[in-house]
Amino acid sequence: MRAAIMDAPVRPLEMRDMHDPWPGPGEVRIRVAACAICRTDLHVLDGDLSEPKLPLVLGHQIVGVVETVGDAVEGRAVGDRVGVPWLGWACGECDYCRSGRENLCVRAVFTGYQRDGGYAELAVADGRFCLEVPETYDDVEATPLLCAGPIGYRAYRMAGEASSIGLYGFGNAARLVAQIARHEGRTVFAFTRPGDSETQRQALELGCAWAGDSTESSPEPLGAAVVFAPAGELVPAALRSLAPGSTVVCAEIHMTDIPSFPYELLWGERVIRSVANLTRRDGHEFLSLAAAAGVTTQVTTYPLDRSNDALDAARVGLGGTSVLVP
Ligand SMILES: [Zn+2]
Ligand SMILES: [Zn+2]
Repeated sequence: MRAAIMDAPVRPLEMRDMHDPWPGPGEVRIRVAACAICRTDLHVLDGDLSEPKLPLVLGHQIVGVVETVGDAVEGRAVGDRVGVPWLGWACGECDYCRSGRENLCVRAVFTGYQRDGGYAELAVADGRFCLEVPETYDDVEATPLLCAGPIGYRAYRMAGEASSIGLYGFGNAARLVAQIARHEGRTVFAFTRPGDSETQRQALELGCAWAGDSTESSPEPLGAAVVFAPAGELVPAALRSLAPGSTVVCAEIHMTDIPSFPYELLWGERVIRSVANLTRRDGHEFLSLAAAAGVTTQVTTYPLDRSNDALDAARVGLGGTSVLVP
């Protein structure tokens, strides 16, 4: 099969032929229809996330069709359309797994990081960790729902039940969460890069009550905030606008240092927390809610052999989510 291969951090990906992967016990082989690029892929490529499998096929927002089924696979058959997310495998035995927090599994294996992902014609995944893709989405438009969606949704749920929520960094994940929050009747405030009037316009179009620069204070105290950008300085910025008793959730896997800030900003039982990875439950819940809410995605497609151009576009956040099509 053809694949875009990462040989080492920081180097451009190289298109090469690889042996077709073969599914082991419990695994399925998927003919990749589309694979979206996530900012985490850039963190792996840039070396921000250490010790990736090398050489590596990146990509953990895969939509495709099961082509071959390994031994002992239950509930997946040849011809099924499935989605493959970031959480590729969890042990099922550790304290985290047994308490519904497989996202924190001590032995978890992540797709497109510790096992090969979807920047390729074929991918192998554990059948139990594949997600159902709602029929209302085609292959390409469904791909951003597999990572930006469930992890954004987990962050949104961790932010609590407040009637208003601020979203810092209005990229792909925030766009999806804003639509879910509106569907649930919440008031959404969008904070973008300073001067990014185009993104602010899009946020208002998606139903946000207000959109402005991340350096501005919220027009009213926020009942919750989620920081989707990897910029630590947004944490004290969000705290400044946060009502007492409310939470700031950091949704990124990697973030620059959070600058020091006066204790007064945290006082009043304000909470700062992170969200790590996703559980299968986050994936299932988000995908059915997205279909029910009519959540839309914004994508730009690239042929697989232009993966480096697609990564560049993802880095600057141009054209919504970059999606590779083999
Ligand atoms: Zn991701
Ligand atoms: Zn575990």
